[in-house]
Amino acid sequence: MTRRKSASSLIKIFIATTALLVLAAGFAARAHSQTGRVVESDTHRFTELAEGVWHGVGTGRVHVMSNVMVLVGEFDTLVVDSHVTPTAARSLLDSLSVLTDKPVRYLVNSHYHFDHAHGNQAFPREVEIIGHSFTRQKLNGEIGNVLEETTFHSFSDGVPSTVANLERQAANESDPVRRAQLEQRASVQRDYMNAIPEVSPTPPNITLEEKMTLFQVVERGSREIQLLHLGRAHTGGDVVVYLPQERIVFTGDMMLPGLSYMGDAHVNEWPATLDALKTLDFDWVLPGHGQPFNDRAVIDNFQAYLEDLWPKVARLKDQGLSAEQAAEQVDMTNHSDNYPQLRGPGADPRAVRRIYQLLDE
Ligand SMILES: [Zn+2]
Repeated sequence: MTRRKSASSLIKIFIATTALLVLAAGFAARAHSQTGRVVESDTHRFTELAEGVWHGVGTGRVHVMSNVMVLVGEFDTLVVDSHVTPTAARSLLDSLSVLTDKPVRYLVNSHYHFDHAHGNQAFPREVEIIGHSFTRQKLNGEIGNVLEETTFHSFSDGVPSTVANLERQAANESDPVRRAQLEQRASVQRDYMNAIPEVSPTPPNITLEEKMTLFQVVERGSREIQLLHLGRAHTGGDVVVYLPQERIVFTGDMMLPGLSYMGDAHVNEWPATLDALKTLDFDWVLPGHGQPFNDRAVIDNFQAYLEDLWPKVARLKDQGLSAEQAAEQVDMTNHSDNYPQLRGPGADPRAVRRIYQLLDE
């Protein structure tokens, strides 16, 4: 495997001495007082939550769309999730050199969604890809074609117009600083648009149903890495990566700081799956989008939203409303303390259509 070393001038290493992680505004959060390292490449910012346990987010230079977790051991590295395109995954692989020179041995997919798994093909052939059997069936075409489904289209089809809008705004901007920012954003989105055609969904070659445990050699002995399918939730094959010794869990999109996408979800089963998550002993949740959090109330709040959305949508369906009408009318504003975007009635139509579909099964 060849791995281009990032120019050292581009690498900034910050040793933080105070709070590192700031939760997105709007989420009740306990202040973070843990000291940890933040290491940055041109494209990625990695925060160390425990020795050799890194949460990686994009810096914005490349459109990566989702977060990763990187576990660095004595001899090898395990990566969780592969970003949105092979280009994004290559930017991750390039960036790992700021953390370690140990080769990637395993890639884990938290679930099959494009923004977490369409970088799989960029990993070297010798890397084992591990995921739930459902994730394999989605990515190898046994269950539908992910490139033709609503989830992929609803997020990807708008990219060309996003590029055009940013280009137009840049052309009309007189302030040179603002203009340069808009041109930069247009350039990142244009690169993303051009990277999509290369995607060839690549499934895990090792699958699990409920649990698999890996032991990674680390300086102090071994790191227990539990891959757990706690039930259906965000998709039919969500896997969380639980580190019992470090008391950390990477949850993919099953548990985010905010509302998660529900277009492929088992909305009615999701709260029970989150109950199972809550039985694990952990301090930190590393989400597939957004910043790590350590407040378990974030989980309770999301369960409350799901448990409220399902019967409210079911009632509107009973009244004869179409899914589109129900998506406009369903009133979830009683959750606006936790989700400030809920200023008026309405929910994601893709979530409501999915609930209708589940109710019809
Ligand atoms: Zn997802």
